[in-house]
Amino acid sequence: MKHFDVVVIGGGHAGTEAALAAARMGVETALLTLSADTIGVMSCNPAIGGLGKGHLVREIDAMDGAMGRAADAAGIQFRLLNRKKGPAVQGPRAQADRELYRSAMQKEIYEAKHLSIIQGEAIDLIQEKDVVVGVKLADGSEIRTNRVILTAGTFLRGVIHIGDVSKPGGRMGEQPSIGMAERLESYDLPMGRLKTGTPPRLDGRSIRWDDLESQPGDNDPTLFSFLNTVPEAAQIECGITHTNPQTHEVIVKNLERSAMYGGHIDGVGPRYCPSIEDKVVRFADKTSHQIFLEPEGLSDHTVYPNGISTSLPVEVQQDYVTSIFGLEKAVILQPGYAIEYDYIDPRALRHTLELRQISGLYLAGQINGTTGYEEAAAQGLVAGLNAALASLGKGSLEFKRSQSYIGVMIDDLITRGVAEPYRMFTSRAEFRLSLRADNADQRLTPWGREIGCVGDRRWTQFSTKMDEIEQLRARLSGLQLSARQINATGVRLSADGPKRTALEALTLNDFGFDVLRELEPEFIGGSSSVEQQVKNDALYVNYIARQNKDIEAMNRDESIVIPENFEFFGIPGLSTEMVQKLSAARPSNIGQASRIDGVTPAALMLLVGRIKQFDLARKKAL
Ligand code: FAD
Repeated sequence: MKHFDVVVIGGGHAGTEAALAAARMGVETALLTLSADTIGVMSCNPAIGGLGKGHLVREIDAMDGAMGRAADAAGIQFRLLNRKKGPAVQGPRAQADRELYRSAMQKEIYEAKHLSIIQGEAIDLIQEKDVVVGVKLADGSEIRTNRVILTAGTFLRGVIHIGDVSKPGGRMGEQPSIGMAERLESYDLPMGRLKTGTPPRLDGRSIRWDDLESQPGDNDPTLFSFLNTVPEAAQIECGITHTNPQTHEVIVKNLERSAMYGGHIDGVGPRYCPSIEDKVVRFADKTSHQIFLEPEGLSDHTVYPNGISTSLPVEVQQDYVTSIFGLEKAVILQPGYAIEYDYIDPRALRHTLELRQISGLYLAGQINGTTGYEEAAAQGLVAGLNAALASLGKGSLEFKRSQSYIGVMIDDLITRGVAEPYRMFTSRAEFRLSLRADNADQRLTPWGREIGCVGDRRWTQFSTKMDEIEQLRARLSGLQLSARQINATGVRLSADGPKRTALEALTLNDFGFDVLRELEPEFIGGSSSVEQQVKNDALYVNYIARQNKDIEAMNRDESIVIPENFEFFGIPGLSTEMVQKLSAARPSNIGQASRIDGVTPAALMLLVGRIKQFDLARKKAL
């Protein structure tokens, strides 16, 4: 019988990143998936990144994960969102050629050392007491392992809805996973139903592109991977069109025929990514909604109309699509649909993404109530690294909120759970001035190297870049400028103020390397990317010093550990409501407890008192 240190079930965005992370750590890993051909498939929109999501991709890349490299190889239009705002809230985004993305990810998978691909369906887990010892496949074979990472996406008891027609499916054209859902149910885990939807795909040859507004990419594309500087694929433009009152009339008239409005779906959908039915009902006063027409590839005529996901019957989809300017003759290649699936309340997980109840079983991706490729991949990275560390007997790894968006997401999931599909936003991160997309490598690559998941190529490149940055900073610190000199360039600063080093001058908004060169033409700068990095870091240095106080306070709270077997029930003064909230989330420390919605400062005080008693009693018993 085959044996692996880590077995990953599912070859989606969570699964690929999990398998690659475990394999990078040097443990023998298997990626078991329904079809090897669908490894790296993008189920919905052909795009990676965006606000918050782009940060996640950069962080995955900083730990030497694959998503950023694959997106760079497949990117056919790169845009840095929020370009006019500060670097902290800018998010890289790329529209991807679906086929190029899939093949780039497959190349990563097939070329990885310590990684085997097994095609098949996992139908059950093999257990000894509360410990996982293997996986059973539909063909009757078994794989032995002590670490399983389940990344089944939307496949757990997935049901596809188009109008009043429903059929079982994990994704269009693929069977759902029933056996694994039943196994998880048998553990008595907190589970629920969620839903998401996708728009109809159009034949690009039937669109009147010439009459539509177009959206080009950036002239100087910002790539995802710190290893890359220029796109590989040819770059394209997207089209823009809008719904109109006629479109809305068709939708309103047929609302009851929508799977969602006809009462066929119980699952909760993402509020911030509404279907076109939702938009028309919720924003009834709006007569038009924007639609981006995104080609799915360079040699593919399929177009993804971003903004009109739906679960209306096919003929209604045809009617509303053809009511839209430029789409009057549009041919639908694949209808839009909604999918409903099981998820596990992520409060059942540890920060490693291992289930508390079942030792050796990790969950990552959409199965934990998130939505989006980037969120899934980031969780895959966390689960993959932790499963590998556990199998090596090297403990665990905790991504902190103060260190990464990945840490923010994991903490949100395991302490607060989800009420709707969870998606990353920059507003979720309280320390976003330091958690920037541009400095993800400075925050994470040295840590990744220490753990063992960052390879030599990245480490060499990162070290060279950091040397250049340090040398430039040293030169800037050695250059004194008077306030009068700075003021004379037009930068807002009192001319009577004290002298500053050039590095300090860079903390001023309007003072860049261009201004410095006006003052000191002989100054030896650095490459444009190094100069940009030094400027970004300088811009936030004063805010970050203030922010560090909040980080220290959070670290203090997080150092007060709540023991695994701690009983919340029976603490004098702690209300039933608090007991229920705390018992559902089972926070590992006071910091986490303080972030559970509705947990009051008074409850925290009671908790801290009880933990002290608990510690005292334990010490006495020793
Ligand atoms: P998936 O990418 O779904 O991968 C799951 C993998 O598990 C597949 O490879 C499957 O073959 C495999 N698998 C499942 N069960 C088994 C088993 N028993 N044995 C072996 N292999 C198994 N995200 C957005 O950000 N925006 C959107 O608008 C959006 N809309 C969506 C619309 C639809 C219809 C769907 C299906 C998804 C949508 N998503 C959207 C979500 C996005 O596709 C997912 O968040 C992302 O793909 C999740 O990644 P994952 O790795 O968790 O799961």
